[in-house]
Amino acid sequence: MYDGPIIDAHTHPMLDPEAQIVADPHPPEAYLALVRGSRIARAAALTIARGGELKRTMAGNDAVLRLARDSGGFFYPVCSVHPADGGAAAAEIDRVAAAGAAWLKLHPNTQRFDVADPAVEAVVRRAAERELPVLFDAYSPWDANQPGKFVNLATAVPEARLILAHAHGPGFPQLLLYDILARYPWWRRNVWTDISATSPMLAGGPFAEQFTWVLRKFGIDRVIFGSDYPIDDPLAAVAAVARLGFTDEEQAAILHDNAAALLVR
Ligand SMILES: [Zn+2]
Repeated sequence: MYDGPIIDAHTHPMLDPEAQIVADPHPPEAYLALVRGSRIARAAALTIARGGELKRTMAGNDAVLRLARDSGGFFYPVCSVHPADGGAAAAEIDRVAAAGAAWLKLHPNTQRFDVADPAVEAVVRRAAERELPVLFDAYSPWDANQPGKFVNLATAVPEARLILAHAHGPGFPQLLLYDILARYPWWRRNVWTDISATSPMLAGGPFAEQFTWVLRKFGIDRVIFGSDYPIDDPLAAVAAVARLGFTDEEQAAILHDNAAALLVR
């Protein structure tokens, strides 16, 4: 049984009333109360920028940067920009990178953009220049071609480190494409996936064995744990990783080591 530290690479602590996404308020203190005494040693704090509202974008980024400081580094800051903000988005990436952002967050559904939009490539390129991995929401029931668009993005900006949240959800077999890509010498393997929301959804059900098999083909060294708090309970999400049948070594990689490697600056 893996009994080392855990990094929760996907949480949405509520830092202002507008950031509330479930029925009950979910401030960072509520998350900390849930995980107190557990092996969860660090957690990503995500924000999601709105387009055309630079002041709010900056305030949202400042809030997660402040949370990271105030929590003594327990939370690490995952800042956001809106691709449609163009040069202002680029300037904000520079600002948050200098201020200590760990990763950048982009959400095609919530922010209403197409992954194939050239503005998205520009943001990813800027983030790569500032050495910020980009955590994308990567499950869209409205864009069936989205998995291929992520491959195109990774090919266009090979130095960018992309983390595809939710492993494409019920479309997880699409990740098998990466098993083929890994056979080509030009492929950089700079794409990770976080299994938040999808692993508690599938654990214990008929797709569980397939999900684990697909993730092994994708590469366990590229799989990271997240809870998507407050969508899922963090400790239940940890338990789901064991229920999926991963070995102790695989759990160490998924629950800690892979995310830790993406946090080295
Ligand atoms: Zn999320």
